[in-house]
Amino acid sequence: MRQRFIEFQNEVEAIKARCAQGEISEAERDQLVRQMKLQDERWGDTWMLSPSGEWFRKASGSKEWIRDYPLVLMEPPDMPVHEMSLQQLAWTIHGCTRCPLHAGRTRAVPGEGPPQADIMLIGEGPGFHEDKQGRPFVGASGQFLEELLNSAGYKRTDVFIANVVKCRPPGNRDPQPEEVDACRIYLERQIELIDPKVIITLGRYSMYRYFPGASISKIHGQPKRVGNRLIIPMFHPAAALHQPRFRDLIVADFKKLPQFIAEAASFRQEKAEIDPDNAQQLSLF
Ligand code: URA
Repeated sequence: MRQRFIEFQNEVEAIKARCAQGEISEAERDQLVRQMKLQDERWGDTWMLSPSGEWFRKASGSKEWIRDYPLVLMEPPDMPVHEMSLQQLAWTIHGCTRCPLHAGRTRAVPGEGPPQADIMLIGEGPGFHEDKQGRPFVGASGQFLEELLNSAGYKRTDVFIANVVKCRPPGNRDPQPEEVDACRIYLERQIELIDPKVIITLGRYSMYRYFPGASISKIHGQPKRVGNRLIIPMFHPAAALHQPRFRDLIVADFKKLPQFIAEAASFRQEKAEIDPDNAQQLSLF
């Protein structure tokens, strides 16, 4: 499998070399590269490599291309989780056996989105479709989540989406405390690396991380500042889909998202002004 990915990469490089030598135009190069597709034998996913060198994956059963990286091209990471990159984390999560959920999974779902997203959404755990595609929120609640993001002026590809547990609990039951604990190191490292301005918790299990024992009906949409970010508890989109009384509430909460981002950005800026080293760093990015 690794070999097929390497050959594919070489074929793309050969096309780029023809362009560099003036044999074909840039437009022809781009067209040829975009036509090339690689079928992943194990999962039936389709892969392509963009002319700029980024990998995209279309999961079997999905119509959407998402930016992803073929982990077969990586060496297994031999380091503690708290030192891993997002790709190394994904590699580790796909092979994880830290809790019994691994035995029933088709695929683990590490999470997806831009590595420096301002917004991170944390759901509970993969369901049926997520387990098949290795992607978070791709079922009915995912579609609703996308509508909610669009209504606030964001696209799904603007945000990083993760879950409290990375493998599907059987029959979509609630994750058990031991399962949440076993997966905690992965989520913690993801948050540390992405460093989002705002975290939206979707559902009870991700809410409990920041608001232990709270009731979502009482605190939904009310941000809490934790360090230099805002945590906003929200209803789970699946609950809002099935219970119309929650729907209006989650729609209204999502509409406040730009305001929350502005608030979080302003206190990050304040911190930078107090701490000149940090201010300099911020201006570099
Ligand atoms: N529900 C979740 O909490 N997470 C998913 O990824 C899908 C459904």
